[in-house]
Amino acid sequence: MILVLKHGTPPGRVEAICAEIKEKYGVQPWPSAGSAETLVGLVGDTSRVPISTVEMMDGVARVIRVQEPYKHANRAFHPGDTRVNAGGVEIGGPRIVVCAGPCSVESEAQILGVAADVKAAGAAMLRGGAFKPRTSPYAFQGLKAEGLLYLKNARRQTGLPVVSEITNPAQVELFNDYVDVFQIGARNMQNFELLKQVGQCRKPVLLKRGFANSLEELLMSAEHVMSGGNPNVILCERGIRTFETATRNTLDISAIPVLKAKSHLPVVADPSHAGGSAWLVEPLSKAAIAAGADGLLIEVHDDPKNALSDGKQSLSPAEFADLMQKLAPVAKAVGREM
Ligand code: PEP
Ligand code: MN
Repeated sequence: MILVLKHGTPPGRVEAICAEIKEKYGVQPWPSAGSAETLVGLVGDTSRVPISTVEMMDGVARVIRVQEPYKHANRAFHPGDTRVNAGGVEIGGPRIVVCAGPCSVESEAQILGVAADVKAAGAAMLRGGAFKPRTSPYAFQGLKAEGLLYLKNARRQTGLPVVSEITNPAQVELFNDYVDVFQIGARNMQNFELLKQVGQCRKPVLLKRGFANSLEELLMSAEHVMSGGNPNVILCERGIRTFETATRNTLDISAIPVLKAKSHLPVVADPSHAGGSAWLVEPLSKAAIAAGADGLLIEVHDDPKNALSDGKQSLSPAEFADLMQKLAPVAKAVGREM
């Protein structure tokens, strides 16, 4: 439920309305002052909130019922686009934010080298997995805490904010010291204990869509983070499972405009895990930008043929630099910057 307040309602009155509603009906009010009007979202069991009585309160213009089960993530609660500050880089503004780096951090020299290369090519952020959730227990599992340390050193050398995947709620304290953004991977999109734990922080969360999850389920996972008090969620479309076997996953391009319509949160796309092949990264990136994505997550490896994970879909640093050149005119065509 959303209360639309009358234009010019003074802050003191907004506070009084919130206090009265909370006291009388036991729901949590979330005021948000926009440039045009102030909205108060009501979260909790709103079934007993009497609309006609609330509409008569001094300062209330009208009351809107929100049908969707997600509230904090709903665009109705926050009509303007949310811009998330990820270690000094704004995601959700005019700039398309490209976050690039290897699937896995493999050594300090590797991550320092890739970080310098992707920065020179125009990436705004660095990615790198340290705790890898692999299908096979015999596959490379990541350098774990050592990998996080190397990422931090890469951040120090390049200034690029760092994103890395967290797989367990017990890792929050460790990650807090090393990364700028928590990545929640596709396999953990509904790891509710993990979502609740990162919801207790203020550090941004890059939330990847599970490969068999609906957009509503993705938004409900965002809701788990946001209802804990962390508003800094970035949604990521990374491809879903379909009957098609020609690509690793199917990039759901329509997820981008649908998520942007339903939610105020920034939306990024991961063409690397979607297509699963290096040659598909360019066309899928162009399509994602044209569809309204706020950023891209791209795997770049210094030696893709010998990568310890996801080499087939990884670009070399030279290929990444070439890609960035090719994406700039697409971004410009849709009124964005790179
Ligand atoms: C990754 O980003 O390296 C990764 C494992 O992604 P996903 O969770 O989308 O499979
Ligand atoms: Mn990967």
